[in-house]
Amino acid sequence: MNEMSPIDSLKGIGEKTRAVFERAGISDIGDLLHDYPRGYESYEPIMPLGEIYDKNAGAFYGEIVSPLNLRRVRRLTVVTGVIRDGTGTIQVTWFNMPYLKSSLVSGSRYVFRGKIVRKRQQMFLEQPAVFRMEEYEKLRGRLQPVYPLSEGLTTKMLQKAIRQALDEAELEKEYLPEEIRHKYNLAEYNYAIEEIHFPKDDHSMRLARHRLVFDEFLLFILAVRNLKEGREKIRPSFLLEKKEEIPKIIESLPFTLTGAQQKVWKELEADLTSSEVTARLIQGDVGSGKTILAELALFLAAENGCQGAIMVPTEVLARQHYESITSLVESLGLPYRTELLTGSMTGKQKRLACERIENQEVDIIVGTHALIQEKVHYKKLAVVITDEQHRFGVRQREALSQKGSMPHTIVMSATPIPRTLAVILYGDLDISIVNELPANRLPIKNCVVDTSYREKAYTFIKRQVEEGRQAYVICPMVEESEAMEAENVIEYSARLRERLPAFIQVEYLHGKMKPKEKNEIMERFLKNEIQVLVSTTVVEVGVNVPNATVMMIENAERFGLAQLHQLRGRVGRGGFQSYCILMYGNDGKKTKERLGILNRSNDGFYIAEEDLKLRGPGDLFGIRQSGILDFKLGDIFQDAAILKEASDTAAFIMEKSDKFLSKDSPLFKKMMKSTHLEDGMLNL
Ligand code: ADP
Ligand code: MG
Repeated sequence: MNEMSPIDSLKGIGEKTRAVFERAGISDIGDLLHDYPRGYESYEPIMPLGEIYDKNAGAFYGEIVSPLNLRRVRRLTVVTGVIRDGTGTIQVTWFNMPYLKSSLVSGSRYVFRGKIVRKRQQMFLEQPAVFRMEEYEKLRGRLQPVYPLSEGLTTKMLQKAIRQALDEAELEKEYLPEEIRHKYNLAEYNYAIEEIHFPKDDHSMRLARHRLVFDEFLLFILAVRNLKEGREKIRPSFLLEKKEEIPKIIESLPFTLTGAQQKVWKELEADLTSSEVTARLIQGDVGSGKTILAELALFLAAENGCQGAIMVPTEVLARQHYESITSLVESLGLPYRTELLTGSMTGKQKRLACERIENQEVDIIVGTHALIQEKVHYKKLAVVITDEQHRFGVRQREALSQKGSMPHTIVMSATPIPRTLAVILYGDLDISIVNELPANRLPIKNCVVDTSYREKAYTFIKRQVEEGRQAYVICPMVEESEAMEAENVIEYSARLRERLPAFIQVEYLHGKMKPKEKNEIMERFLKNEIQVLVSTTVVEVGVNVPNATVMMIENAERFGLAQLHQLRGRVGRGGFQSYCILMYGNDGKKTKERLGILNRSNDGFYIAEEDLKLRGPGDLFGIRQSGILDFKLGDIFQDAAILKEASDTAAFIMEKSDKFLSKDSPLFKKMMKSTHLEDGMLNL
């Protein structure tokens, strides 16, 4: 057994459990070991239930009063029951853990540890972890890892599997040269993996984390540098020429390009028509108009008799781009043929789409990851664009490359990162910045308020809807699981429906819905058949509904600033005055200070800089900027110091690449593996 072995090589993992792990993105031992905790907690002493009522969270030793109930609510299973100790009684709920009904015995006592929530004047213990007393006592006093969990997966299951893998699997050898480890005081690799999951104490956890974050950054930077070095040797798949059609298209657009759009288009056009393969990152604030730049690049490919593809992270976004392109093409009377390819299409639809792509019956292809996964054989793929991709698409480039050549790649990101960090991460990779918003925009009006404002906010939403507008309400995230998050959104929208007049259609959107259901909801929202959309952060990326003017965010303190800025970017996209209501559930000084930044400014780059200043290296597991560069452990803001070290190290390694990065060195192999680059690709 080694890191490549499938997850079910472990004892006790059969078909069913394997599926549970796979749903969480863990299919082999390597995935398991690199599924790092999101943070740590220490277990508190057991308290009487009566005391926990006031604290809202804690552990107590209680008895299950009567057999547990199991019921289904839409696609969730809910186990409920009543627990008591000598000091009190409480109702308990677990989502999507049906097996608890039979494994927890009525009349027996267990340690329950969890949070208390108040709903409809009643108190509930929600999703508590359950232990036998001896078990709990053993865990006390140690740092306990907290893992990001998904349906059916528990911390216990993960820990058991990880322990077994660490004990029995043949682990990866240290790949960093001694010299470098010494210089930056880096823990040994296998020590770090062990300690990140089972830390002896705070100190060794920090050492472990430092090492692993360093690795993530270093490998990423090395891969980008290495790619760039090799780039001059790679020729573009197809040489493109400038075409007169393009300025004509720009002329006939319904709007004039902003100065920033014009500047970036010049850069892009020069890139795409050169004899070197393009790798350009386009950064631009939300709403700065990046889509049209992508469309122009695709049109240029089509004008040259080639194909261009644009890949986006969600089905909803794919559809939206597809519609935007087809309607633009139609209204301008252009001859380009467009195809959509997404995972939720039927097998037949996909096959037909692939055929048309292969026979070059289409010029522009819009899709999700299906563009790679469906084994499409592109005939003349000259340009590939990934939108809302926060990470430089090293893997995508590989997947779409053809032998000896490569399409031009453009990556578009709406998450501004401070220039200083961008340069460290991407080196002098070509970065274009769209730093200007179209002139017709009214700045969004913001307010930062506490929950006592909620009723007023609803009234405000009602009035906006009466004026013909629409609104988003973002529900608080539920950290424990996606299932609870879904439940939360469903309940919230039911309450809101009751609160608002009947003519207002309220619907919800969450991550556990099928892509088809999500598409349907988004389409109805776009057509204004739905006026208020209650959602988790799934609407975060790229969605464009210009008639929506209110963004209300519950528990705003739980989100990173960049993420809030993204969410806010869903409104203010049309000619109407838009509003963002940031509602916080706790009013610490820091919360106000952070949210105040958003209140002051609508400029994503400014916000990113301020965020960077505000957050010190102290809070190791603070609010993660989900959405910014999907490192597993590292956060480019919080770990900016480690990022700098990794960057220096990368420079040092590249300089002495003969010594450190020869083809058979462990470091080189690791770099290839972690970026899924084929060995050969760099020698083309
Ligand atoms: P993002 O950069 O967030 O991807 P989009 O490309 O979706 O932004 O553009 C947001 C909206 O602005 C779209 O409705 C688009 O048609 C419009 N738009 C883009 N460029 C301009 C412009 N120069 N003038 C006016 N409106 C524009
Ligand atoms: Mg966009």
